[in-house]
Amino acid sequence: MDQHQINTFELPHTADYSKNSRHVAPNASPCAVCGKSVLNPKYWVHVVWGTEIILPDVEWPDPSSDLGCQPVGVACVKNHPELKPYLYHGWNKYYNEFPKKP
Ligand SMILES: [Zn+2]
Repeated sequence: MDQHQINTFELPHTADYSKNSRHVAPNASPCAVCGKSVLNPKYWVHVVWGTEIILPDVEWPDPSSDLGCQPVGVACVKNHPELKPYLYHGWNKYYNEFPKKP
């Protein structure tokens, strides 16, 4: 399937996302929504084109615009119920290896 035929959803970045993501703890990863440190991620989203996400059962055909999975903090999962269909569950320390599907 061509990547332009795949439905994507824009990440609801918070206003302070850029500022927060510049101050992430060395052993943490930035939350894909607010940019704050996530130490032990429980939820992940599959990011493409920088700020868009796709559903877990969709394969992205273009490696050059595939950013792999990024964590979403628990607070942002609660604050953004619209993200629920897009979430992967479970810990995985390697961004480009996909966590298990829900
Ligand atoms: Zn967050």
